[in-house]
Amino acid sequence: MEIQSFANLYREINLLAGEQFSSWCFMPGMGLGDGNKWWVDGAEKRAVVHEGIDFFWYEGQRGRSHVQPGDFIPSCCDGKVVACCPDFLGCSLFVIDENFSCFVFSHIFTTLLVGDLVTVGSQLGKIAQTNGPVPPHLHVSKFMAGLDWDWSVVTWQWLHQQQIAFVSPFGG
Ligand SMILES: [Zn+2]
Repeated sequence: MEIQSFANLYREINLLAGEQFSSWCFMPGMGLGDGNKWWVDGAEKRAVVHEGIDFFWYEGQRGRSHVQPGDFIPSCCDGKVVACCPDFLGCSLFVIDENFSCFVFSHIFTTLLVGDLVTVGSQLGKIAQTNGPVPPHLHVSKFMAGLDWDWSVVTWQWLHQQQIAFVSPFGG
């Protein structure tokens, strides 16, 4: 899915007007492979390079706004929920599509369970409320999953131990 399509889905599921939300905005530190933290001034480094894309700012004719805790999160793929684990701001939901591409939607609150099916645009959960310096936002990662994985052990720590190669979740 192109990133603009994901903007359209987010706008629609949250009933935002087109003049409020036309496209996502990104700053250094929000992209795949970025080394810096975007939520602090200066050049503070992340503990590990960024595994995906962070969605926080968006813009429309009325100017720039940001996502809010409680915003609904639309799926960007058709697939099945295979895992859900805690992350440092909420939980991470793992969805695999028919090609075993795995999308991870992080820093969210969800009531979906392993085995649930999702479709493009269906609601995955909500942006989680956070405490501390990192504002509520959505993180999305993508990687190729193994056919024989035991999903009950999959966590962020496990993914890093496996040295998973993350790819761009949108475009192409
Ligand atoms: Zn992130």
